[in-house]
Amino acid sequence: MDTYKKDRVILHCDMNGFFASVELLDHPELRDKPMAVSGDPNNRHGIILAKNQLAKEHGVVTAETIWKAKEKCPQLQLVRPHMDKYKLYCGKINRIYQRFTDMVEPFSIDESWLDVTASRSLFGSGKEIADTIRRTVKEELNLTLSAGVSFNKVMAKMGSEYKKPDATTVITRENFKDMLWHLPAGQLFGVGRATAEKLKKSGIKTIGDIASADKNYLVSLFGKQGKIIWEHANGIDDSPVALYNQREPMKSVGNGVTFRRDLTTESDISTAVKALSDTVAGRLRKYGYKAYGIKVDIKDSYFKTISRQKQLFAPTWLSGEIAKASIEIIHASWKKNVPIRMLTITAINLTDDLNQEQLSLFGENIESKFLNEKVELTMDEVRKKYGSHAIGFASVINNDLGIDIKSDGDGPAGRKDI
Ligand SMILES: [Mg+2]
Repeated sequence: MDTYKKDRVILHCDMNGFFASVELLDHPELRDKPMAVSGDPNNRHGIILAKNQLAKEHGVVTAETIWKAKEKCPQLQLVRPHMDKYKLYCGKINRIYQRFTDMVEPFSIDESWLDVTASRSLFGSGKEIADTIRRTVKEELNLTLSAGVSFNKVMAKMGSEYKKPDATTVITRENFKDMLWHLPAGQLFGVGRATAEKLKKSGIKTIGDIASADKNYLVSLFGKQGKIIWEHANGIDDSPVALYNQREPMKSVGNGVTFRRDLTTESDISTAVKALSDTVAGRLRKYGYKAYGIKVDIKDSYFKTISRQKQLFAPTWLSGEIAKASIEIIHASWKKNVPIRMLTITAINLTDDLNQEQLSLFGENIESKFLNEKVELTMDEVRKKYGSHAIGFASVINNDLGIDIKSDGDGPAGRKDI
């Protein structure tokens, strides 16, 4: 180990079955039954958002419909989601992490990286700190987590995935090849399903195969991402763990596309607006912002551009609400039948205080807003796991406008503008 004395010590902490575990705190009677957190069971489109270990053993999976889950597991108990409660626990958990280091970087609502390099003189080795954190979270909150301890963020993340639930896994420079290289390529952090399939076609089946592949060959297949996955497989990752709450405030999140053919009909416009709104909303959620305003730039086939904006009653990160505002702007400011060459939708006046939302405003249908929120958050999860093509709005798929939801998260691609 002496050779690597300068190595950092990074933890990745991942809550086990987070939504379901938080719900079980209020429903102890369901602990030994298969249970899932779901949308409205009376809604045909209601979906499974999270499940406990027993439901998992019955084959229940996240994002499937309730009726399908019930088919596999008729005795499945359903609980409605409480996003506010999950956010509350997310805060409590991250405050426990901060007793051990100020370098705590949340990755999602239930995962964080911790840099504990400088904390060891106070709290012991990386593994000891991870075990203490697990014990503390269990004692104080009655929730379990899996922790990875390693020399960089990627390896720490691989560690927390390695053994679940309620475990600590240490991955070192000495053992990472033995531990990880025999695993399927798709299990490497940063390799989605589409990438894994493409790798397989090139005969690259395991993480070890990625590590020993020619880096330039991977770059030729995947661009910049090819270099990144090669580095990850070889244990290379210098990215720092951010200080808690340290990030550049974002001013806006936008996405625009020049269409393969001009938009001429109401249905063209609706398809384009839905696709753009979906990517803008996805990025807002990814970065943890909501928008108080929406701006739309419209360029006609003579390259004349107008730019209009609209304020919202309550901030949003939902694609349906962004699309609705965008359509209203277009209707108010665009002459019907003038072909549209390019559209850009931008979320403006951003806030990262996600609790600012005043749900009681204007008799809005809270229940449907909340369900929309859950559906879109689950879409994010599904896309994270299976790639951006995995799930989308039916009307956007198979359009002839040149809109394609690219898997690198950069949003729709269309013809090149001049
Ligand atoms: Mg988790």
